[in-house]
Amino acid sequence: IERTLVLVKPDGVRRGLTGEVLRRIEAKGYRFVALELREATADLLADHYAEHAGKPFYDALVEFMLSGPVAAMVLEGERCIEGFRSLAGATDPTVAAPGTIRGDLGRDWGGSVQQNIVHGSDSPESAAREIKIWFAALDA
Ligand code: ATP
Repeated sequence: IERTLVLVKPDGVRRGLTGEVLRRIEAKGYRFVALELREATADLLADHYAEHAGKPFYDALVEFMLSGPVAAMVLEGERCIEGFRSLAGATDPTVAAPGTIRGDLGRDWGGSVQQNIVHGSDSPESAAREIKIWFAALDA
């Protein structure tokens, strides 16, 4: 059985969409293993977004992720990594398919970072790494 790290990013929390995201996850049938409202820190985000260091949008991304609380959670279920990414939709909310979280609830608000409401781990290796970063006490 698989686990994945999901974040409702600061834009989602600010817009009051946390409950809607949780509802979709529950309706899909995944189980919450951990769920917490958190303030990220620069150190934590440097770990979390290590693969994006040096990219043109990196500084704006970290600043955005520090702009307010995030709802961090660990989900569990068969193929939940792939399953949540399917629920989330494409990275760019402007073109994410209707029916997905980003497609139904997201749009372009200007600025150099895509404010796309949620994050979900993209592989078992990322999930293990990210769960350790956000929930040190949990097993991946
Ligand atoms: P996905 O893998 O579906 O893109 P993700 O959240 O894992 O979702 P990443 O590619 O890992 O996306 O990028 C991390 C985040 O950085 C994105 O969710 C988005 O907020 C921002 N981002 C990614 N690419 C760009 C870009 N080209 N311009 C601006 N912001 C971006």
